[in-house]
Amino acid sequence: METIPCSIPVNVGFTVPSKVSRANKPETTLVKVGDSEFGGSGIVIIAGPCAVESQEQLFVTARSVNNSGARILRGGAFKPRSSPYSFQGMGEEGLNLLSMIRSETHQPVVTEVMDTRQVEMVAEYADMLQVGSRNMQNFPLLKEVGMSKKPVLLKRGMMATIEEFLNAAEYILNQGNENVILCERGIRTFETSTRNTLDLNAVPMLKQLTHLPVIVDPSHGTGIRWMVAPMAKAAIAAGADGLIIEVHYQPETALCDGHQSLSLDEFEELMRGLKKIAEAVGRSIS
Ligand code: PEP
Ligand code: MN
Repeated sequence: METIPCSIPVNVGFTVPSKVSRANKPETTLVKVGDSEFGGSGIVIIAGPCAVESQEQLFVTARSVNNSGARILRGGAFKPRSSPYSFQGMGEEGLNLLSMIRSETHQPVVTEVMDTRQVEMVAEYADMLQVGSRNMQNFPLLKEVGMSKKPVLLKRGMMATIEEFLNAAEYILNQGNENVILCERGIRTFETSTRNTLDLNAVPMLKQLTHLPVIVDPSHGTGIRWMVAPMAKAAIAAGADGLIIEVHYQPETALCDGHQSLSLDEFEELMRGLKKIAEAVGRSIS
């Protein structure tokens, strides 16, 4: 059973934008990506490398996470990097690799789109479009993905409040695309021991305020490999509808985010652990 938020109105000190508001649509929106459904009683796990780096890296990783039970494959072809000298992603070649492995494993693919000019092209390859943290308030991009027919994975801006996050989603819904999944991925705080502070408060709060499904990214939320499993479990216990987890076949050689990527074996072990947590909160891993 899905955790139904209680009907007690919460006074959050702002008005929840109308299209995303649960007050205007009490039942959770089910967002379908391939055969998977976000927002129902099943919890959907997305896994794969931070970035597509090569055919071998992607295919070995994708086959393994598929066997371990991940329902959707992640992999960035266009990477938002802090330094212009860091690996920027393989671009369309990376998208092509994602669609090649999809025809083998039948796993739908989610990949990031960073620019309005890329939306049409990325949508030709992807099953779901990711709008990353750095672009959460890129309003032209939000409008453009809102005009696309593809589901959108909207990641919380690293400095965004819940109000700003909900308004960003409203931009997408306003263009007629209701298939939006919200992703809590950690926010910047004064804490320096972790890359970000995973705001698990956001999970029950968002579930209360909006009918959109909510998932959690414990990889970016912590930035530390050994912290991914405990925070993934905590996210499910807090009511998340899914997880997105970075996995790499050789994390130590990864071109992007290797320090927070699980190995293939670590991911398999985590999937076993997640089943028990899901059962404990009356849900299942779908
Ligand atoms: C990612 O998913 O690899 C990514 C860049 O995430 P975020 O936008 O949350 O930083
Ligand atoms: Mn990453």
